[in-house]
Amino acid sequence: MHSASDAPPAFQWDEWYRSVGGRSIQIAEVDEILAEIREHQYPRFTGPVAADRTTFESEASAADALKKKAFALGADEVGVALIEPGDIYQGREVKERFAVVVGQRMRWRKFQQVPSEDSAVESLRVYFTLGEVVIQLAAYIRSLGHACTVEHPIGDSDVLHVPLALKAGFGELGRHGSIIHPRMGPLFRLGSVITDMSLRTDRPIDAGIAAFCDTCKACRIYCPAKAIPDARSPEAGKDHLGNDRYLVDTGRCFPYFAKHKYCSICLPVCVYHHKEWARDFEGFRTKLFPEVDMQDPPPPTDPDAPKHWYPKLKRD
Ligand code: SF4
Ligand code: SF4
Repeated sequence: MHSASDAPPAFQWDEWYRSVGGRSIQIAEVDEILAEIREHQYPRFTGPVAADRTTFESEASAADALKKKAFALGADEVGVALIEPGDIYQGREVKERFAVVVGQRMRWRKFQQVPSEDSAVESLRVYFTLGEVVIQLAAYIRSLGHACTVEHPIGDSDVLHVPLALKAGFGELGRHGSIIHPRMGPLFRLGSVITDMSLRTDRPIDAGIAAFCDTCKACRIYCPAKAIPDARSPEAGKDHLGNDRYLVDTGRCFPYFAKHKYCSICLPVCVYHHKEWARDFEGFRTKLFPEVDMQDPPPPTDPDAPKHWYPKLKRD
């Protein structure tokens, strides 16, 4: 079993909401999708492992087979990373060595106004559809004779999707704390399936995105909670390129996020390769830049309230 004393505690949505006076987002469609995930996806996280094990020529061909399957199931990006102790939440047990990280894009046309019911529902919609991809990918891995575990995108996972996705080559960490993918920008969600099936791992990329963030401050300017920093913080640890990380103040972000439809302003205003990903998809006419509704922020949470973080990403 892997574990790490410096790993963050598991993500506790209920505790987070309690720390800001409760969950005040009331959107019927969001609640319906949450119920679907709980009632129809959680029971399908496990299943029988085939007694006969399929053999592959190499770790590379095994990884290729899983990626091909994930794309066929609806993934927009897939990569493989080795799971290290810092990728596992405190108190969780993970025996598996590899994470197959899967990403699915959110539709730009639903982020034309932020925050909005449209953007909130789109986030949940992708939690559901991406949940289907990881559940069915896990069933495929079991059919090949390998045990595996579903790490659903909704948040209650054993592993930290973001550092695993960075190692799996998804992109670079933006100033706003989310990964920016060279083609999908920041508008996508992550889930994983973890397994001991031997797989070739992917490599992190350096596409110049982190360097771009050092001169661009669009997300910081539009963040109504002033949670996005001006400078990188040496105490926040390193990203996979060895840069000091930008440390988003979750004590300021979360109270706003919890009261304003999951906020999400920092994602669609992100300008990295904006013209590439913020365009019409499937023939829909969209604006290039969203309408942004910025309200006064609620008071920041107590510094001792639960925070979400993850440790140093670059391992020497
Ligand atoms: S979600 Fe909203 S409050 Fe949080 S960092 Fe992004 S813009 Fe700021
Ligand atoms: S808006 Fe600019 S600074 Fe912020 S994450 Fe995007 S590219 Fe980086």
